[in-house]
Parts: sequence; structure tokens; C-alpha cells
Amino acid sequence: MKAIRVSEYGGPAVLKIQEVPTPEPGSNQVLVRNHGVGVNPVDTYLRSNTDNRGPKLPYTPGSDAAGVVEAVGQGVTAVKAGDRVYFGGSISGAYAELSLCDVAHVHALPGNVSFAQGAAVNVPYATAYHALFNRGHGEAGETVLVHGASGGVGIGAVQLARARGMTVIGTAGTDRGRRLVMEQGAHHVVDHTAPGYLDEVMRLTGGRGVDVVLEMLANVNLQKDLGIIAMRGRIVVIGNRGMVEVNARLAMNKDAAILGMALFHCSPGQLAGIHAALVEGLGNGTLRPVVGQELPLAQASRSHEAVMEAGHHGKIVLVP
Ligand code: NAP
Repeated sequence: MKAIRVSEYGGPAVLKIQEVPTPEPGSNQVLVRNHGVGVNPVDTYLRSNTDNRGPKLPYTPGSDAAGVVEAVGQGVTAVKAGDRVYFGGSISGAYAELSLCDVAHVHALPGNVSFAQGAAVNVPYATAYHALFNRGHGEAGETVLVHGASGGVGIGAVQLARARGMTVIGTAGTDRGRRLVMEQGAHHVVDHTAPGYLDEVMRLTGGRGVDVVLEMLANVNLQKDLGIIAMRGRIVVIGNRGMVEVNARLAMNKDAAILGMALFHCSPGQLAGIHAALVEGLGNGTLRPVVGQELPLAQASRSHEAVMEAGHHGKIVLVP
């Protein structure tokens, strides 16, 4: 089968398409034929070995894809050959024609959801869910600011929060992004490139502030978030790309919490709960992943450039 391989850490050019042996499923493993592969920012951090977190070389990147079960190993009863599935986590890597997965990471893909959309589920939606509900304890009737609502995680968060009965304010940096955020269910949208845009958030909440902030770029926004948080508000740091200085007194004054999160730290029980909720939401149409761009698997290096460019809107998906 064809797969993308990384044999040295570095820029997008280290992603090379190669012929590799097709894996065989062992006990409690599933082999999936991929029809769409999700490209996430984290795939670029691992490729360039940011924070020394790169996988052992050589490796096939990617954790997210959707397709059809090709074969199952001993003891697998949850899925069978021919089933439509998406997965979150792969033993052999997702940037490939076929991927070997632990059965616990393979989930049913409802018939109303395309394979490209299925590839956009795992990291973005599971992150949004964990940040919003498990870490941020967002509740119906509360207000959430999705700070960076036009990307993969942001769109998931807008749909999840709206379905839960929260008031949703999103931000985006382009007209197209702001239209997209409204179409996905936000009640209000503001421009995170406009001077004083958070004054508008205070106005929209009658001066009270927001109960939850889901923060995609904490190094730019954390100090500003502390200025628009309501009493007992929660700021969940999902994305961060540098250093930031904050006045901690603002957190003190509001009994506010700043909470970090990484999807990687979810327990197996939390992941099972998250995916049960996501499969249900996909099936009933409240969750509708937005695919921004589809590229052939061979253009993986281009996909890594695209995922780090501003204003790409929606998910970048590789098609094997
Ligand atoms: P993405 O699809 O590339 O989206 C990036 C988002 O950030 C866009 O909505 C973009 O808006 C927005 N943005 C740009 N400038 C901003 C600013 N000044 N203030 C607020 N938002 C701004 O990425 P993603 O997949 O949604 O991931 C978002 C971040 O979360 C990334 O840094 C990623 O590494 C991180 N992440 C963390 C976890 C975790 O477990 N902690 C999991 C998944 C992702 P415009 O393009 O409209 O300007």
C-alpha cells in the first residue's frame, strides 16, 4: 500500500509517499481502508519535532481518518468488514491507504456523513467537546466565546455549544470566516483582527462578560480574555504558540479559572463518552463537519503548509 513516511524531522518536504507493507490486524485490532484523512496542526508539530515530541523515526503521520473496515482481528465484535467508520488514533498512522487501529479507537460513521467529513471528526470535535464540557463545564443558558471559531476545533465547538443550549459568540479573521461561523450556529460573530473587538463582546453580554472562553491562541489573547470573563468564568487554553504576560489579579477579581487541556490526556473512559456523544450528534445532524479543502495523499506536504496558513476555513482532508 501507499503511505506517507517521515524519515527525518523537518519542514513539509520531509513528507514522502512510499510503498510499504500492508499491516495485518492482530487481536482487538481493525484494518481500515481510508477514504479521507484529517490534517491537524499537531501533525506539523510532530513532523518538525517541536518540544522534542516527535515520534520515533521513520513513521507515518496522522491520527484521524474515515473509511471502510477492510479486516478485523481476533476478538473484534464491535465492527465488521464493510462497515463505514471513522477513527481517532492509529497504530500504523493515518496518512496511508490503509491504517491499523485498536478497536477502541474505531467508531461508526453514520450514513449521512461523508468520508471527508468523517476525517474531520476526531481531533477537532473531541477537543472541542472535552474543552467545552469536561474542562470548561459549559452549561445550557451560559455564554461561551469561541476565540478562533472558523477553524476545525472552533467549528466543532460552535455546533456543540449551540446544540447544548448555550449562547455562542465566535471570532474569525476574515469575512468568509465570519459568515461560516454564523452558518454553523453562532448567535454573534466578531472580528479578532479589529481593534477593540472585545468591547463588542462586553456589549453583547450586557456588560456581564462570558462564562466560558475556548481559546485557540492563548499567547495573543489570554490577558484580553481575563478582561471579558464573567464571575466564576472559565478560560480553557486549547491552542498556544508562544509566551504571554498576564495580570493574575484579573483572575482573582472574578474567581476565574484558567484551565489547560490536551486531548492526549483524556482517559479511555472519557474518550468513550466523547465519541458516544459525537456519533449521536453526527447521526442526528447537529454536528456537521465542514471540509475546506481536499488534496490527494501525495500532496501531504502541501496540506501541512495549508493547515498553518491563516484563513483556511474548515478542515483540510487528504484523499488516498
Ligand atoms: P485551525 O483549523 O488552523 O484554526 C485556527 C483558528 O485560529 C482559526 O479559527 C483562526 O481564525 C484562529 N485565529 C487566528 N488568529 C487568531 C487570533 N488572534 N485570535 C483567536 N483566534 C485566532 O486549527 P484547529 O485545528 O482549529 O486548532 C486550533 C488550535 O488549537 C491550534 O493551535 C492547535 O494546535 C490547537 N489544538 C490543541 C488541541 C489540544 O489538545 N490542546 C487539540 C486540537 C488543536 P482565522 O483563520 O479566521 O483568523
